[in-house]
Amino acid sequence: MNHFTSKDIWQGIILFGLNAATYKMALANSLLELSSKGMTEVEWEVLSESFLKQYQKRLATTKMPQQSNPSRLTVMERIVASLQSKTITYDEAVNRVGAKGLNDVVPRFQTIGSNKDIVDEHFYEIDFGKKIIIKDPLLSFSSQDREQLRSELLARWSLLEGAFSISTNNIELANDIREIYLLTGYERTSLTANIPFLSGYQGGICFYCGEPLIDSIHVDHVLPRQVLNHDEIWNLVLAHRDCNLLKSDKLVGPHFIRKLIARNENIMGSNHPWKHKISTALGETPKKRARTLQRHYDNVKKVLGAYWWGGLPSYNPSSDPFYKRLITVINNPDIGVPR
Ligand SMILES: [Zn+2]
Repeated sequence: MNHFTSKDIWQGIILFGLNAATYKMALANSLLELSSKGMTEVEWEVLSESFLKQYQKRLATTKMPQQSNPSRLTVMERIVASLQSKTITYDEAVNRVGAKGLNDVVPRFQTIGSNKDIVDEHFYEIDFGKKIIIKDPLLSFSSQDREQLRSELLARWSLLEGAFSISTNNIELANDIREIYLLTGYERTSLTANIPFLSGYQGGICFYCGEPLIDSIHVDHVLPRQVLNHDEIWNLVLAHRDCNLLKSDKLVGPHFIRKLIARNENIMGSNHPWKHKISTALGETPKKRARTLQRHYDNVKKVLGAYWWGGLPSYNPSSDPFYKRLITVINNPDIGVPR
């Protein structure tokens, strides 16, 4: 597993798994902030303060649930509420975070799903209750990487809150509302809101050329919108502006359909509010989803003709970094080597 980059492993921690609460996202933001200052040893109290700050900021702007059980508040929500109502002092709040807020998440952060072996102590070592020692992989993220990872974790945090709030309400009503958003959300601007989280699930690279996504990112309908006539997430990917223009409304080659199937499985492997939407649209198992998507592809082929666009001449699926990302490997165990 050690051929994965640190960024890959980090994204595995953030993007994979059925998080029961938002703790990992808050700790991730603390770790990025503290390590960006070059801190190598972080005292428990300093970490507690940073972790508290994440929730103070978050809860000042949202009333969204922070865990999957809606009838209970997380320890952090209770501490922030006590602080706000002045029933405890700031120092007491920091002490409580140190005693009750960090004890689960600090040891558990460096796992992917329930697997501890992949990450091991890649990003930090723990001297429990005293300090953590930040290691080189975390210290050496570039500022560009940090920015990307930060926007991904904040997007993921929002998505978890969305998922928790859906499970708390009438699911049919929630679906009706999302249906309305889908029906009304046909403008380009509504699609750009999908950029931060889609990026992680397709490995941070352009869907069509496999090069890093940096500026002027476009949201593209893999199967042309002019045929499908909808903006469903299972058909949306991110691409460079130029790649998107080259592809335009063409039918894509079958290798891109295969990639889209794998990208969708990356979303299915996470606690994502649109997971339900994807399984409703495509099917409940990976096999059914692959078959349904293939059927849509065949339908589009009937409309547009069998001629397809295979990507830039330099693009080769067998060297596409997407297939080497941990998130892809872990969600697509049967994927094999692309042809
Ligand atoms: Zn591109």
